[in-house]
Amino acid sequence: MADELLKETERLIKERPLAGEVLGAFKDLAALMAEEAPEINETSVDKRLQDIKREEGFPLFSRADLPLDLDSAAELLQKFLTILQTRERPDREGLQAALLACTKDDAWSRNLFSMVLRNDEDALVHIADGLDLEAQSLQFLAQMALTPSIQALRDFYAPQIDTDTWDHGYCPFCGSLPSISFFDKAGKRYMHCELCGLEWRFPRLKCPFCSNDDHKNLGYFDVENQEGFRVDFCRQCGRYIKVVDKRVFEKAGPMELENLATLHLDVLAAKEGFK
Ligand SMILES: [Zn+2]
Ligand SMILES: [Zn+2]
Repeated sequence: MADELLKETERLIKERPLAGEVLGAFKDLAALMAEEAPEINETSVDKRLQDIKREEGFPLFSRADLPLDLDSAAELLQKFLTILQTRERPDREGLQAALLACTKDDAWSRNLFSMVLRNDEDALVHIADGLDLEAQSLQFLAQMALTPSIQALRDFYAPQIDTDTWDHGYCPFCGSLPSISFFDKAGKRYMHCELCGLEWRFPRLKCPFCSNDDHKNLGYFDVENQEGFRVDFCRQCGRYIKVVDKRVFEKAGPMELENLATLHLDVLAAKEGFK
């Protein structure tokens, strides 16, 4: 899985020169993620309870309760920081401070992971400020360190999740919101989970964030000379989601990479006043 991600990162770097820098930086991480073999902590999920949860619209797990292999994630975070702090980057000193913090105390990484999983932005900003790092970078690295464990768990439970009939804007596995979406080759719309990467069917004309389906309040804009990408927005909640139209590409990249390769669309959406 993560191995595939490394290969795809290399392929996209060649095909999308504009996104080369951000994908190139990601390649280091993808290579380390591919080596990681996290344990799967199998928790028994009661079948009847699970049916009830699904009918009521609850995801299989909540983000904070995912039974993850945090030792593996902590080890991976150290590896990320060890490599990145040798690179010529403006935030090099902050990365060195983070490496020192997580090497000195196991609890530091666990605390960080818990903030990411609880979506506790204030706490993240506080820690990042103390290290002189961007909160976004710290959050991204921590989330990537958790990813092999999250994905192993997701794949383990995948047979129990119906991604075709789930009619909600949040992930049926972990309850997170989508980071990006796509149309498949047949033109069906899918959401891609920001945390576990699960992809689920979603109606074409509906906002995943507030469920608004009044087409008068939904719209999109695209970018000149960039066929295959657009930004869907909702005037009711003011949010947007990027869309990759796979019909346009012979082979689109995995959505976690497309999300990184389309940061310019996030900039555009923000300029248009969407969040
Ligand atoms: Zn998810
Ligand atoms: Zn909305």
